[in-house]
Amino acid sequence: MGVNVGFAIAVHGGAGLIARHSLTAAREEACRAGLHTAVVRGQAILAAGGSALDAVVEAAKSLEDDPLFNAGRGGVLNAEGFVEMDAALMQGMDRTAGAITCATTIRNPILGARAVLEDGRHVLLSGAGADDFGAQAHLPLAERGYFITPARAEQLEKMKAANAYGLDHGSTEKDVYGTIGAVACDAAGHVAAATSTGGMVNQSRGRIGDTPLIGAGTYAWDQTAAISGTGHGEAFIRLAVAHRISAYMELGGLSVVEACDRVVHHDLPQIGGAGGVIAVDASGNLSLPFNTGGMFRAWAREDAPPTVRIW
Ligand code: ASP
Repeated sequence: MGVNVGFAIAVHGGAGLIARHSLTAAREEACRAGLHTAVVRGQAILAAGGSALDAVVEAAKSLEDDPLFNAGRGGVLNAEGFVEMDAALMQGMDRTAGAITCATTIRNPILGARAVLEDGRHVLLSGAGADDFGAQAHLPLAERGYFITPARAEQLEKMKAANAYGLDHGSTEKDVYGTIGAVACDAAGHVAAATSTGGMVNQSRGRIGDTPLIGAGTYAWDQTAAISGTGHGEAFIRLAVAHRISAYMELGGLSVVEACDRVVHHDLPQIGGAGGVIAVDASGNLSLPFNTGGMFRAWAREDAPPTVRIW
């Protein structure tokens, strides 16, 4: 780690095949706008001297509220036709973390994760327990129907007809938007990571992906980096991807860029794992590699305005 070069933030909206012909110009534009808005909201908090934790929660919330992305409203549907939401939040200064899985009524799952983190007794709450916890924390709730969009219902029907199960954005279908995440380093040199998802299309009820599992889809430590992943959750779980990146840095002396590249381009492909990560270290160095056709992503730094990329 070097001297802090100022704050930095990155967001993702999922990785996958994302064939160029599968995106109409209008949808591409809407997607880019969603990513841009999220990164600008997080950046504003960091520019005002706010914490990395607040910045990633704000950016994640912005993407959850955008129905184009597979998180919160507009999340993908499970095999039984409703959205089960996973989210995790971790802060690097003390490695405190909070997460929820298979929640069905918390309007912004990342706020559920934050409530678990702030409560401090547990790290991961599931199902009805997570929903009840959200209600007790006075978080905004919604009926199951609120989260279901017509596009997601159609996507599930197609997936069922093909007898398949998969990444939101991993097929040649035109529905290409994905899981969301945010990582940030604040001016004080603290990092944080947030990830939120509806999971995989047509997944079994009760399936838990990498997103809410600390160390798999989400990890943050000031000594190494904040990491948020997207891709085939099962592969990310088996490799403990986010913690593996941190461990390469801590124990192997790799930089954040080297560690992310090694996991995304070497370790994940070894087990057929498709996806990508966004990461930032406590010096503000960013890394956003993916081994898929594309990854919806955006980033900004103290000294550089927002940049949005898909391919
Ligand atoms: N990683 C997520 C999951 O497996 C899916 C995604 O990134 O789109 O639940």
